[in-house]
Amino acid sequence: MRTLVTGGAGFIGSHFVRSLLSDPTTEAVTVLDALTYAGNPANLAPVADDSRLRFVRGDILDAERVAGLMAEHDAVVHLAAESHVDRSIADGGDFASTNMLGTQVLLEAAVRTGLGTFVHVSTDEVYGSIAVGSWTEDQPLAPNSPYSAAKSGSDLLALAYHRTHGLDVRITRCSNNYGPYQYPEKIIPLFITSLLDGRRVPLYGDGGQVRDWLHVEDHCRALRLVLEGGRPGEVYNIGGGTELTNKQLTERLLDACGRDWDSVVHVEDRKGHDARYSVDWTKIHDELGYEPRRSFDEGLAATVAWYRENTAWWKAALD
Ligand code: NAD
Repeated sequence: MRTLVTGGAGFIGSHFVRSLLSDPTTEAVTVLDALTYAGNPANLAPVADDSRLRFVRGDILDAERVAGLMAEHDAVVHLAAESHVDRSIADGGDFASTNMLGTQVLLEAAVRTGLGTFVHVSTDEVYGSIAVGSWTEDQPLAPNSPYSAAKSGSDLLALAYHRTHGLDVRITRCSNNYGPYQYPEKIIPLFITSLLDGRRVPLYGDGGQVRDWLHVEDHCRALRLVLEGGRPGEVYNIGGGTELTNKQLTERLLDACGRDWDSVVHVEDRKGHDARYSVDWTKIHDELGYEPRRSFDEGLAATVAWYRENTAWWKAALD
């Protein structure tokens, strides 16, 4: 299979590309990435010499370029996005254009070029916030941030292209990812790098927000299962099975970095902060045999160790 990966120089995209290339049966992988602040060619350094990999610096909004690339591939795994909620609160413009319009440009090209399969990588944040229980895939979308609203728009467009044009679209909605190569702005890499650097970390509000944590390798394995065995027009939730409040997470990060609560500054809560996310991932488990393999404690320890050993990577990313 020849796969086009949008956003393949970002956190999850680069893991996905490395995972595809670790499989000898993979024919070719092309990365299309605009290299925004979050995209980093160094994330692909471990596979840079693989002759099956081609890197194209470009914008998913560039319809002509997208159509040219699409015609040369059997499948697209679409990860390119503006992905940080705080940035969407500061300014939602790029979120609307990249996440919604950019997705529409890709879908249109997929129809015109007769693409085989389009995996649209979405997020559990499209469902909103849930006090108890977990969302199944038929839960109506109720996003609260400009980020999740723009992702919801892209999900609806993807489903519309399936229903209207018969395009083989498969949507995934996963919980919060963590692991190596994540740009230090989201809570886990921000806290690890700050604590390792001797700086204090900002905890929003009372730290009571609950998130489900998923190691990026488990997410990428689930994406491959959907790419290879998912059904057209279906949505698959992907969860990690470890729910923690941000306060509990902070406690573990402080422990792992050898620091204490003196290193934490309590700051005003994020505007519109969702209280809890929780996906029910029975469907992908029963249909495709997915379940997370990395335990959170082991995965977090390995992630902290990676940031400790790769100071040059994150210092350069922040420059
Ligand atoms: P990221 O911010 O690390 O990477 C995004 C990548 O997209 C970057 O390489 C960036 O350069 C590229 N990009 C941005 N705008 C582009 C454009 N207009 N054209 C081409 N490339 C562009 O994001 P991530 O955390 O790896 O997330 C990847 C996907 O997974 C996103 O769609 C996100 O919504 C989704 N997701 C992420 C998480 C998470 O916890 N990180 C959870 C659920 C879903």
